[in-house]
Formats: sequence, structure tokens, C-alpha cells
Amino acid sequence: MKAVVVNQKSSGVEIVDHEVPSPGHGEALVKVEYCGVCHTDLHVAHGDFGQVPGRILGHEGIGIVEEIGQGVDSLKVGDRVSIAWFFEGCGHCEYCTTGRETLCRSVKNAGYSVDGGMSEYAIVTADYAVKVPENLDPAQASSITCAGVTTYKAIKEAGAAPGQWIVIFGAGGLGNLAVQYAKKVFNAHVVAVDINNDKLELAKEVGADITVNGKEIEDVAAYIQEKTGGCHGAVVTAVSKVAFNQAIDSVRAGGTVVAVGLPSEYMELSIVKTVLDGIRVVGSLVGTRKDLEEAFAFGAEGLVVPVVETVPVDTAPQVFDEMEKGLIQGRKVLDFTK
Ligand SMILES: [Zn+2]
Ligand SMILES: [Zn+2]
Repeated sequence: MKAVVVNQKSSGVEIVDHEVPSPGHGEALVKVEYCGVCHTDLHVAHGDFGQVPGRILGHEGIGIVEEIGQGVDSLKVGDRVSIAWFFEGCGHCEYCTTGRETLCRSVKNAGYSVDGGMSEYAIVTADYAVKVPENLDPAQASSITCAGVTTYKAIKEAGAAPGQWIVIFGAGGLGNLAVQYAKKVFNAHVVAVDINNDKLELAKEVGADITVNGKEIEDVAAYIQEKTGGCHGAVVTAVSKVAFNQAIDSVRAGGTVVAVGLPSEYMELSIVKTVLDGIRVVGSLVGTRKDLEEAFAFGAEGLVVPVVETVPVDTAPQVFDEMEKGLIQGRKVLDFTK
């Protein structure tokens, strides 16, 4: 079978002919339909989290169960399922047993610590593969498997409620979905901040009430405070320390700042503001199986529509190249159905 793997130098990706795996106890074999290409895949390909040459990439996989191993009763042949970054937890630690399974210290991640979804066939742990609703387009589902659930969970963490103000920093692939979940699912008022007017235009189209170009407005936080009275929550998908600092200053007393983007820097946190205004700062990483099930359901209802472009599998090395150069708008999804 065709598979997109980390090359031997851990400097990028290559397409190889790989043996079709067979499902062990508790596992299922999935015939992959689509797998999105994410920035995290680029980090894995470059060995940023540790070198994994030969690893099959991909954690935005969607496909149909073709075969089940022994002891599987949560899936059946023909089910459409996801292959997500949160591939499997231990199931018995303090995080796994308290609804915080993505923090499991023995977690397995698809396309990094175990083979992922960028191949014609993939193995999933049956109890951890989340089913995709029938009326959700599988190429769009691939984007919800990572970007969708990540932003949905982050907005939950921000404590969004109807009529409240939520500001989203970064209006790219993640940010665009964050605007949609905040507006259409949580009925919040939404501010979108970016330095790219095209992305802000798209944010407006999907429901942002106010857009702010960080390059055109001198004091972004003061502007947001003036327009909204201070946001109740902020979600930072931007990979920039500046955005994190602006987020802290954009929320009102009692507000929550949710960190999603991963710049390798420290944020400045005014201790006085944090204490006197009772600010909460939380990190948020992907989502649990339940979060993903919910995120899929809102996609199936048509409330949230990811922007995806399907491309042939053979173009994977080019797609990674374009991603590195920052040339990709929306989401490129490898099409394994052709
Ligand atoms: Zn991803
Ligand atoms: Zn665990």
C-alpha cells in the first residue's frame, strides 16, 4: 500500500510502498478515505518532537472499517471512523479516569508515536476510534478530527456562553473554525484578530462580528476593550507571543485566556492584572473522544463547515513544502479514494 512516511534523515516526507498491517486484539483495520495535512505533521517530519524515521504520518484520517480484530465490540465492518492525534490513552490513570484523557502520560499519538492515517490502510484501537456521523462529508470530517475538535474544546474551556464576547487571535485554519464554533454553536459575539486581511475577510464571512488587523490598529487590546467592554474569553491560535500578551489585555475581569498556538516563547503575564482581575489562563490540547463526537455532530448539522481542498496523495511532498513556506490557505486533504 502507498504510505506517506518521515524520510530516513527526518528532514521531510517521502512516499513508500508499505506492507498492509493486520489488526491485533482490540484493533480494527481501516481503509483510509482522506487524511488532512497539519502543521503538527510538519513538526513530526522534521524531528522537532524526536526523530521517527519511517513513521507513517497523519492524524486527520477518516476511513471505513474493513476488518476487526479479536475482542472488538465497539466497531463493526463498514463504520466510518477517525484516526486522531489522541490515538489511545492508558485508560486507568488519574487523567483517563477523570475526563481529561488527552493529558494521559502514556498517550499514543497517531502519526508520531504510532503509525497514522496517511496510508491506504491504517490500524486503530477500536475503543478510541470515534465514529463519523453519516451526513458529514468525510473530507470535511478529516479537518474536524484535529483543527475542529481543538478549537471546539478551546472555546468550551473559555467558558463561552450565549451573548458573551469571545476574541479569537489568529484567523487561519484553526481560527476560522474557532470563529464558527463560537458563533454558531455557542451563540457568542466574536472578535477575530489577525495580520492578514484575506483571513479576516473569511472570518467575517463565517460570522465574526468585529475583525481587527493587528498591523493596522496600534493598540489592539485597547481597541477590543473599547468595542466590547472587554471580552469574556480569548482563544489564542496565533503562533506569536504578541498575540498571547494582547489576549491577556483584551479580556474583562473574570475572563479566561485559552492558549492553543505553540510559539516556543514565554508570555508576559501581569501579576497585578491576573490577581486583581481574577484572570484565568489555561492551555488546551486537542480534545477527548467525547469532544470529537460533539464536534463531528455540529459539522453534520451544517453549523460548522471546514474549508478543505482535496489533493492527490502523490502531491504530499509538495504539500509539506508549501506548508513550510506558509503558502497554504485552508486545509489540504490527501485523497486516498482515487
Ligand atoms: Zn493536526
Ligand atoms: Zn492514562
